[in-house]
Amino acid sequence: MKFNIHNVSITTSAPSQAHYPVSDLPEIALAGRSNVGKSSFINTILNRKNFARTSGKPGKTQLLNFFNIDDTLHFVDVPGYGYARVSKKEREKWGGMIEEYLTTRPNLRAVISLVDMRHEPSADDVQMYEFLKYYDIPVILVATKADKIPRGKWNKSESLIKKTLQFDSNDDFIIFSSFDKTGIAEAWAAIESFID
Ligand code: GDP
Repeated sequence: MKFNIHNVSITTSAPSQAHYPVSDLPEIALAGRSNVGKSSFINTILNRKNFARTSGKPGKTQLLNFFNIDDTLHFVDVPGYGYARVSKKEREKWGGMIEEYLTTRPNLRAVISLVDMRHEPSADDVQMYEFLKYYDIPVILVATKADKIPRGKWNKSESLIKKTLQFDSNDDFIIFSSFDKTGIAEAWAAIESFID
């Protein structure tokens, strides 16, 4: 399949199942800690400057954003997790919303799980990955901000991330940088493998 990215639009923002779009399009969800570079990833692979935005206050907008990509698929942008100042109640709301989506949505094909390549995955990152594997959801692991790490150390970072997550070798692992555009083709190839 060839992607000609001319038409991207927000289909809907949904807090729960009743509000998901009525659509047969396949869906690829995107999840990661606040500040991991998820909005930058979305904008970069869509070749847009300001399509996806981080909300000014992380944790405030607790909605799933469905982005229609050329009437071919939906990206489902999940609000970032791991923001320290979010209340327990907000965290529980977030957890319920994402769990409901991931466990009930037939359109879901895979989850792009973003982790910061500079650091060992956090407890939240590990928990998210374990959850996805528990439910047998394919993951495209995207290691962000690769430009911050010298190439000579990429292997070491990749190994640490895989070890900490107990990475499933069937999942895709993509080294990415929005700053120097590393990994765009690889990200699309992985996405397309779940769409055809
Ligand atoms: P989000 O909260 O996950 O949506 O993260 P953003 O995309 O808003 O990015 C958070 C911060 O990381 C911003 O300051 C970005 O400029 C920075 N950032 C995002 N992607 C990259 C990248 O590939 N390389 C570097 N060095 N910084 C990045």
